[in-house]
Formats: sequence, C-alpha cells, structure tokens
Amino acid sequence: MSGPMIEWVRSICPFCGVGCGFLAGVERNRLVGLEYLTDHPVCEGALCPKGNAALETVHHADRLLHPLVRKGDGFERISWDEALEGIAARLLDIQRDHGADAVGFLASAKCTNEENYLLQKWARLFGTNNIDHCARLCHASTVAGLARTLGAGAMTNPMSDVAHSDCIFVIGSNFTECHPLASRWVGDALERGAFLVVADPRVTPVVWQADLHLRHRPGSDVALLNGMMKVILQEGLHNEGFIAARTSGFDVLRQSLAAVDLAAVEEITGVPVAAIQEAARRYARAKASVIMWSMGITQHTTGVDNVISLANLALLAGHVGRPGAGLMPLRGQSNVQGACDMGALSNFLTGYVPVTDAERRARIAAQWGTPELPAAVGLTVVEMMHAAGTGALRALYVMGENPMITDPNVDHVREGLRNLDLLVVQDIFLTETAELADYVLPAALWAEKAGSYTNTERRVQWQPRLIPPPGEALPDWQIIASMGRLTGWADQFDVPSPEPVLAEINAVSPAYRGVTQERTQALGGVTWPCPEEGHPGTPILHETRFATADGLGHLEPIAYRPPAEQPDDRYPLVLTTGRTVLHYNSGSMTRRSKALLTRERSLFVEISPADAAQRGLEDGQQVRVSTRRGDADCLARVTSATAAGVVFMPFHFAGANVLTNDALDPTAKIPEYKVAACQIEGLPR
Ligand code: SF4
Repeated sequence: MSGPMIEWVRSICPFCGVGCGFLAGVERNRLVGLEYLTDHPVCEGALCPKGNAALETVHHADRLLHPLVRKGDGFERISWDEALEGIAARLLDIQRDHGADAVGFLASAKCTNEENYLLQKWARLFGTNNIDHCARLCHASTVAGLARTLGAGAMTNPMSDVAHSDCIFVIGSNFTECHPLASRWVGDALERGAFLVVADPRVTPVVWQADLHLRHRPGSDVALLNGMMKVILQEGLHNEGFIAARTSGFDVLRQSLAAVDLAAVEEITGVPVAAIQEAARRYARAKASVIMWSMGITQHTTGVDNVISLANLALLAGHVGRPGAGLMPLRGQSNVQGACDMGALSNFLTGYVPVTDAERRARIAAQWGTPELPAAVGLTVVEMMHAAGTGALRALYVMGENPMITDPNVDHVREGLRNLDLLVVQDIFLTETAELADYVLPAALWAEKAGSYTNTERRVQWQPRLIPPPGEALPDWQIIASMGRLTGWADQFDVPSPEPVLAEINAVSPAYRGVTQERTQALGGVTWPCPEEGHPGTPILHETRFATADGLGHLEPIAYRPPAEQPDDRYPLVLTTGRTVLHYNSGSMTRRSKALLTRERSLFVEISPADAAQRGLEDGQQVRVSTRRGDADCLARVTSATAAGVVFMPFHFAGANVLTNDALDPTAKIPEYKVAACQIEGLPR
C-alpha cells in the first residue's frame, strides 16, 4: 500500500530581503522537505545556508502554543478571548487616561504586507502615529536619502541587472555573507570582465573578490565619496548631458566640492589618494556602473548624508535609470521593503504619504471610513524606548520584533520595557522581549499563513498557507483584526482572510494598484510601481524622469561630520557590528537551528593581531568588551580581517547591543550601530 504523496509548493525564503524561492514539501500537515526552484528569477535554484535551514524552526519544540498572561515572575495559560479582551480593555484605559500617544506599536519585517498594513491601520485608527519597525534600525536612512534625491526610497534596478554592470562599487555591504544570493549576479559580472571596487573597513568575503579595496575608517564615508566626486570633476569625468537634462543643484555641489582637499580626505579616511582616484575613474568611466550598499552606510548618525552622497555620485556620473546602472540598497529582512511600503513607519502612511500631508491623509482617512487620522509624526523605535523609560509611553504592542536583542543600548531598553504599564508581544517563540511581556500571543509563521512579501528589488511575491499553525497559534493578521474590532473598529477590521486586505492595499496605494493576488502568485511575482492591472511592473526606476515633484534628480552638497563617539584613552578602539552568513537578525529563528548553531554558537569579537598583541590576548580567549553603555563577555578571534584600531562583533547574540550607541541620525532617527568607542581586556583563563 502506498503512503500519502508529498505535495511540493512554491514558497519564499523567510530570512533576508533577497527573496529567494524554493519548493516546500508538505505531507500530513507537516513540512518534510525542501527542493530547489531552478526557474525562480531571483535565485535560479540556489539557496544560502539560512535558506537551506528554513524548515528547521517550523516544527520546533519551543514554538508558542497558547496565549499567556504574566503571573509574578512567570506566565499562566489563558484563553484567546481572555487575552484579547484583557489587552483591549487595558489599551482603552490607557488611551482614556493618557491619550492615544501613550501607546506604541512595533510592526514586523518578517510579517506579510497584509499584516503590516493592518497593524499600521489599527495604530492610526487608535489615534497615534507611534508605529515603527526594524527598517528604522537598518535602512531608514536609505528611504530618507533616496526619497530626497531621487523621489523614491527604494532599489532602482533588479538584482540580476548587476550582471550587466561594467563597474560595481560596493560600500558598507558584506553581501556574500548577509545577502548571499545577491553575490551570484556580481560573480556573473566579474566573469564578463567587470571591475569591482569595495569600500569596507574589514576584509570581508566581498573584498576577496575585489579589484580594488578602499579600507576606509568606520564613519568616514562622506569624506571618501566627496573625494571621489572631487576627482570626477577635476578630471572632467562627470556626465554633462545627463546633469543638464536630468538634475538640479549641480552648481552648488560643484562649489562645495571645490573646497574638498584630497590630502585631508586621505587623512580622514585612511585611504591613499591614488586609490580614491582609481575608484573614481573606474566608476565614472564605465559604461554602466552600479552602487551596492547595506548597513555599513546606513547605521550612522550621518546615515542620510551617506545615502545622499551616493545619490550625488550616481547622478554626477549619470549612472542611474539604465540596465546595469543604478543604486542598490540591499534591504535586510524578508519583508522590510513591504513593511515600509505599507506605512509601518512613524512618519509615513501607506504608499509613503507623509502623515503631515493634510490632503493625502484625508484621502486615506476617507478610504478607512474615519473623519480624521493623527497628523503629528510619531515616535520611532528608539524614541519609543526612551519614552517608555520616562513614562511618556505607557503601553507597547509588539508584533514579531525583538528589541531586547536588536535595539542599541539594550540595558536602557530593558529599563524602558519594565517601566511600561502594558507590554504585549505576539511572536512564534518566547523571545527575550516576550519574556518581559504582560501578555504573550502565539503567532503563526510564514508557512502557516498566506500573504504577500516584497523583496529588496520591489518584487511582490505570494506565500500560500502550507500547514496549520501549532496549538492555538493564529496568523498575525487574524490577531490584529480581532484587536482592531475589540478596540472599536468593527467594520474596518471585518477581515475574513488576507486576500481582501491586499485588495484594499491596491485601492489605497497607487504603486500597488496592479499588484493583485493572482499576479503575485505568478513565479517571481510583480515589481512595483505597478499602477494598474495588466501593467507589467517596473523593474528599473527613473528611466526617463525621477520620482521627485519636478522630475529631476536633486544634487545636494554634503559636508563630512565625524561619528558621534570618538575613541579616547579609556575606550581606544572602534567597535563596529554586522552579520554573519549563518545567522539572521535577532537570531530568534537561526539560533534554534541545529545546523546553523553547530557552526556558529555564540558571541565573538574579531580583533587585529596588533591590538591583540598589545593587550596580551590570544585567539580563542575569553575577553570582556566594554563601552560607555556596558560590558559583554565573548570569545576573541584574532584576525587580520580587522584593521588595527577596529573590532567587529556580530549582532545576532545577546550582548552585542548592550555595547552599541543609541545616538541617532537627526533625520532618519537610525542609531549609530557601526561606531562605538570600546576597550577589550582578557578574562582569567
Ligand atoms: Fe534566504 Fe536570503 Fe539566503 Fe536567499 S540569500 S536563501 S533569501 S537568506
């Protein structure tokens, strides 16, 4: 007698923003295997170690199965009705006594577009713009910087386009480890003879492939980019026709670059002038050049300045709006682009409508069946933690985020969360943040619910529901819809399934108008802007005009500013943080994968041989890393991958973000994870 057949269903990798696809094998309501999807347009059948381990967490014994309420130091199981009604009653009490702005909401770049749309809609109907998510911690500066210069805060070209680039300039991105499947297109370009310039303080696997490595100091990006632009202008390598026809602000930029002194740039960045000249010439002279970046650019108090400088460089050379020529921020989580598009941001409603734009805000209010929506910009992630500490924020509702691992200055975050009257966390595991909660709600993960996800290249893909959630866990959209109804918005949250929510998104957001469920289900999905059904989508942005009001790309002079914290006698080293190939974000999923954990178990710090020798440290020794905010103990890895004076830590394990600086970029409000003054000392063996 033959057993039940395995059904193979197209699925999306739940980890990074590259958005690879695979076939998930389903048998008797369990995921039993994973096969490669060779015709997927992003990955063409390949997966990185995380993608290969995607099924490991699905049936994990640690999954949350029932709603929980705090009882003393522990939790007690309660029914869904008790949990939802209890939370709603306390939220309404806080709203009545302290106002809606005493409540904050954290959305999730791991959840679907429909779920993020519902959560931000609920927050706004509740009366506050205190809604944010981890994009604030990774690419908020990209969104702000590109919106200001090009009119759209998103990747301009599909990743496969990199294969057509003649020069690839990578700055602040270790994509071989962090977005592994993006690197395959770079490999194709290099085989064709493309030139690869990599600016990074570390020797990462991307640098191993580079033709030219600019090892600049952390936080010196603006100086480096101004230096490159100075060379381009000095040597007449700028694209005059493109500048005249498609940009504004050239004269002011030229004036400001006239004052840049290349010797001073070398002093600030540590990069020899000759290398800066070589990079500038290669980038400007190539037929099609692309810039790729990630959090090495964005996580600074100068994050927006860094991104504007990259846009300046691309506009000056005319490398935008063509195949192989563009600006490519590699977004972090599987749906961080979508969560931003949906308006899970304290300053933007769905479709990047500023909350301060009265006319467009009123249009969305009418679509949501309410007379008005809050007009004041809300609190960002880090600001919510500060406000929790002062008592200005009394309640926080967290959907699938883990600020106790991901936010800077974690000891301060803990104090804030403990000071709240109400902390609600809905998640798939009892995360470090959930451990502090008053209510914990068990959520479904990617395979247990349907919905759409938007990858880093604006490609919207549909994930079908494959299996039921475990225990009493429910999809996030269903939990949020219940909360919306219980807090007074019965009609607005009459949501039987995710499909009508996408239809509502089509109506509210012009860029998503033609992004229908049927089209997202096609292999590879559809790329926004897609203004109507039948429109093919828009893989390349800005081909004939920019998305700014006047259609021009805006050049803007940017002066170099040093990082917020400088090394001194007490903290003489610079700590910078980032990812490894084996783990993801707060690690709540990858730290539960045996395959990944066996290969990378715990926190470590990379230190140069010179700095280690000066402190008498050996490879593999236990050390204590200290900053002005706290200490973390971990293993030392002595390696020349790190320059003297700089140390590196991955942020997937508890401890790293105890050390990081919560100083913010003034516009994007992103913290300066990439530069913290620190000291390292050996611990007794
Ligand atoms: Fe998943 Fe990203 Fe790896 Fe692709 S590159 S398999 S999307 S983690």
